Amino acid sequence: MAAAFAIAVFWLVQASAVTVLLVPFEWSYAGLWAGSHFLRALGLTIIFHRYLAHRAFQLSRGARFFWALLGTAAMQKGPLWWAGNHLDHHKYADRDGDPHSPALSGFYYAHIGWFLNDSKWNSLPDTNPVIRDFGRAPELRFLDQYFWLPPLALAVGLYAGGGLAWLAWGFCLPTVTLAHVTFAINTVNHLWGTRRFNTIDESRNDAFTAFFAVGEGWHNNHHRYQRAARNGFYWWEFDPTFWVVRAMAAVGLAWDLQSVPDRVYQEAETRAPSSAAPEVGL
Ligand SMILES: [Zn+2]
Ligand SMILES: [Zn+2]
Repeated sequence: MAAAFAIAVFWLVQASAVTVLLVPFEWSYAGLWAGSHFLRALGLTIIFHRYLAHRAFQLSRGARFFWALLGTAAMQKGPLWWAGNHLDHHKYADRDGDPHSPALSGFYYAHIGWFLNDSKWNSLPDTNPVIRDFGRAPELRFLDQYFWLPPLALAVGLYAGGGLAWLAWGFCLPTVTLAHVTFAINTVNHLWGTRRFNTIDESRNDAFTAFFAVGEGWHNNHHRYQRAARNGFYWWEFDPTFWVVRAMAAVGLAWDLQSVPDRVYQEAETRAPSSAAPEVGL
């Protein structure tokens, strides 16, 4: 797909969120928004982020495909592309080479501009650890190559099932909220919030983004220890992604969940500055 066409589609979808105003409100539509937003968010966080980029747990192939399909339906390009670029974010966090640092390139570019920058498209080399290791799975490669197919199928299916109302509330609005929630982890969580750990980047914890991004808002925790299956390091830090992974582990669909080491908890409790570089997941 030509980049210019994809950029046009991106802005068209952004604008399409206003279609909810054309439909008389019903509470069931709000439920449709929530289901579409949060289920696809879980696909992004479970597979694109914590599994593919950080290898925080192992998954059965069926469960992996199920969540990868939902994540791809979020319309944020393919799982391998997403996770592969994310590794660069951690490698260079808020330094030259970070694909989206608000401190370096400003809010707009870090929020949206980098995502639409066509030099970022299809540019990942085979040596990228995500491509090298997960590119061998044909179903993930398929989703990565035909990343436009799941969101298109979702949009068409919703329109066929419930007309404009379902399309607007089940696809247009939640796709836009999901995009901005994901982008907010790259911007809001590198600008505002609390810093439990004195990491070498600008990452912050924020309960508001954690709610809408199903646990990813504990971003300072995450930059301190990327490999963990949980981003909320304590029970009171809302992290439904981790709860779903734990539920899958309970029935044998997930295993080898990586935990937060005791020394990191001790660091949190003593608030000792972490002079060491953040620990990477690979
Ligand atoms: Zn990460
Ligand atoms: Zn970050």
